[in-house]
Amino acid sequence: MAELTLHTPLSALAGVGPAREKALGKLGLFTVADLLAYFPREYEDRTVREGIATLPAEEPVCFSALVAEPFRTSYIRRGMELTKGRIVDGTGQVDVTFFNQSYVRQALQVGETYYFYGKLTGAGYRRQMASPYFEKAGQASFTGGIMPVYPLTAGIANRFLSGLTRRALSCLPQIRETLPAGLREAYQLAPAAESYANIHYPASWGALAKARRRLMFEELFCLNLGLALIRGRRGEQQAIPFVKQNLAAFTGSLPFSLTGAQRRSVEEAAADLGRPVPMNRLLQGDVGSGKTVVAAACAYFAWQNGCQVALMAPTELLAQQHRRTMEELLGGTGLRVGLLIGSMTAAQKRACHEALEAGEIDLIVGTHALLSQGVAFRRLGLVITDEQHRFGVDQRAALAAKSGGDLRPHVLVMSATPIPRTLALMIYGDLDLSVIDELPPGRTPVATYLVGEDKRRRLYGFVRKQVAQGRQVYIVCPAVDQEDQAGMKAAQQYGRSLQEEVFPDLRVSIVHGKLRPKEKQAVMASFVAGQTDVLVSTTVIEVGVDVPNANLMVIENAERFGLSQLHQLRGRVGRGKHQSYCVLLSDHPSEGTRQRLKALTATNDGFAIAEEDLKQRGPGDFFGARQSGLPQLKLASLEGDMRLLHQAQGAARDLLAQDPHLRQPEHAPLRGRVEQLFRENRDIFN
Ligand code: ADP
Ligand code: MG
Repeated sequence: MAELTLHTPLSALAGVGPAREKALGKLGLFTVADLLAYFPREYEDRTVREGIATLPAEEPVCFSALVAEPFRTSYIRRGMELTKGRIVDGTGQVDVTFFNQSYVRQALQVGETYYFYGKLTGAGYRRQMASPYFEKAGQASFTGGIMPVYPLTAGIANRFLSGLTRRALSCLPQIRETLPAGLREAYQLAPAAESYANIHYPASWGALAKARRRLMFEELFCLNLGLALIRGRRGEQQAIPFVKQNLAAFTGSLPFSLTGAQRRSVEEAAADLGRPVPMNRLLQGDVGSGKTVVAAACAYFAWQNGCQVALMAPTELLAQQHRRTMEELLGGTGLRVGLLIGSMTAAQKRACHEALEAGEIDLIVGTHALLSQGVAFRRLGLVITDEQHRFGVDQRAALAAKSGGDLRPHVLVMSATPIPRTLALMIYGDLDLSVIDELPPGRTPVATYLVGEDKRRRLYGFVRKQVAQGRQVYIVCPAVDQEDQAGMKAAQQYGRSLQEEVFPDLRVSIVHGKLRPKEKQAVMASFVAGQTDVLVSTTVIEVGVDVPNANLMVIENAERFGLSQLHQLRGRVGRGKHQSYCVLLSDHPSEGTRQRLKALTATNDGFAIAEEDLKQRGPGDFFGARQSGLPQLKLASLEGDMRLLHQAQGAARDLLAQDPHLRQPEHAPLRGRVEQLFRENRDIFN
């Protein structure tokens, strides 16, 4: 066979037929290079150990032993056969059994030595072992060291995939080093080829740690570089500068005065908006901190400068809510607000499209419907999106592209996910950041309690009392199992039993992720209208839904949620004039879990909680699915190391100071790696 290269398609490897080729494709594996970049999810220590009599029981061990007597098969009953034999070393013996694997009779030859991997039972001289993995000593390929366990799919076994990566390792000399030597030295990072070798087949646990550190650094470093390059490119784009900015006219019409943090955020945005370069700003503020009015101020500036504004929300319900709010905040100024959502009739949509093109709508509020083909603007100057993590960077870009010509609209992204500043700058590295870190005056913090199962009866009494006083209650329960991602089973079972057994006289509704949008909307609308007393839901409760009359939230199995998520959920209450409560139910939490949850009862500050979350769980959770617009990180999402993150950030800054566009020849491999990382996000280079 021809020599392997990084570009060799996997189908050219022995053992990979069409079926496996397809299955590998599902894992994103097409070439030898893909294979090398496909990292194990965990490892098994299959280092060969000595001394049967002294090996630990009930945990996987690998050891060498001689087959002392021939293996024999007996039939226990129909369809069940037992193959038994004995293996020995100088210290003891093991009775080995296999079920329905009679082929081992031929595979295990008397007088030969093999490596066995499995769990021993019993102690001392005579021990037992069921269905171990074994290989002939001297021909072993999957015992005798630390072995990788890969994420798999149907039709691809770990043993098989490990064999492929083992072969792929022969291409390591072809791997180009992306990190400059000086940088590797400064941060004590292992070389590329060595790291790839050790991430798959670690020479030791220490070698694995070094490999992970290097590869993770590389990932974070390249992410930082890519984002910085994008940011640089943005400086070359043009936007309409909003030179007229009469803030007093806007604030004068408000029923309240801006908080200091709101004023600062408006001023930061105003400075951007006044420039002929598109603003790209993330407005972060805890739930209820008053982001909407900052967005309204920006919209007002756009209108003063003869530009249209698009405001995109993730759900129809939120779009409708925003439309109402914007009308209240801006209607008096003469600014015309419109709505565009999927559930409108074709005729309504057409009318809306026409009005937009004619410039008869100044601010259009909508859902993804705003992205559709028929939508065109007369002069789009500002795009606002709410709840950032529901939109990909590409969707933002699609909307921005609707401004037409060479001009780009300004972009404001609002997010209630409190992310520590360091991390935000990293994740949203292409955005500038404004933070509203102060709540409007007069809010009473949500009183939060952590209680156990023994308090359930009293809790139900408390729910009843709130409802009797005319309030409404959220009860959140997590999905019951893996299959129940949408939480349908959990919410239905629990909701029904609540309605039938606990609150037969109250109006209980259920909402979960499997409901059709129309059904979901109907349930939510009934809650908003006060026609539902108790809403049982999974975490699908609309982000940002505003029901000031709801003042109690109960969260079942609170230990299953992350702190930031719990805080988000809690943000659904405490929006009205009534004292609000959040009750975290958790039975027999471990001391660690109790401490973790206690952080929530101690503070209402979302940023403090996010910092705590970050400390406890590392940055992993902040990457990944939620930030769908960014490149997927392979290692950084597995392991949290803030120090490494900071180092990578600093290193990226230093390198760009010296070579702003990564054009120096010695940085070519690095540039290639950055481009590869952002391959699926090519649009964010636009
Ligand atoms: P969020 O940041 O969660 O989107 P909103 O913009 O919906 O918050 O504001 C929450 C509530 O606070 C709204 O009812 C809004 O009218 C009110 N609000 C916002 N800013 C102020 C302020 N400066 N003073 C008083 N109330 C305010
Ligand atoms: Mg909001």
